[in-house]
Amino acid sequence: MNTLRIPITRIGDEGCYFEEHVRVTSIQPSDAKAVAVETATIAGNFERLGAEFLFRGHITGVYEGACVRCLEAAQAPFDVDVAWVFAEGPAAVFEEIGHALETGSDDLADNAHDTDAPRTFQGHDINLAPYVWEEVVFAQPSRFLCHEECAGLCPRCGTNRNYGACKCVNEDNEEPVGNHGLAALADMFPELAPKKTKE
Ligand SMILES: [Zn+2]
Ligand SMILES: [Zn+2]
Repeated sequence: MNTLRIPITRIGDEGCYFEEHVRVTSIQPSDAKAVAVETATIAGNFERLGAEFLFRGHITGVYEGACVRCLEAAQAPFDVDVAWVFAEGPAAVFEEIGHALETGSDDLADNAHDTDAPRTFQGHDINLAPYVWEEVVFAQPSRFLCHEECAGLCPRCGTNRNYGACKCVNEDNEEPVGNHGLAALADMFPELAPKKTKE
């Protein structure tokens, strides 16, 4: 059962509060790539606007992935504000977005996402699932960091530097890239150094 489906009869003149916690796989279209988040919570208020409906609220959850520096588990919480107007109409937008994401066409996805045009519902229920899915996909981080200061892995021995220094550290300090390294080279090969004033 789709718990993100709300009967419009539930939205009275005073509006109504809506809150649901869903498994993201339960709202994932069958042809869409999975997103790295297990559950999402949606909470907000529905209001009636004549024949249309306004939902204002937010979607929260936590993406999980591997830190780009140290490869350990990393989390990225999200909290997206949404304001959606729903009007009765054909279910076209979601199909287009699903297609755009599959084919990697950013233009169509961006256009569909940014539009202020009303979302649609059919019959007597508003189905939030496609729109929640859309937000969860768009809010995905492009990369994960376990924390801002992650020291990463040693490129030589692979030691996770967040847990302590490896034996390569001293060697690294002696060969930094830049002027100091060039000075060290000059010491090792004095004949290559710029000629000083002749004695
Ligand atoms: Zn890390
Ligand atoms: Zn090392």
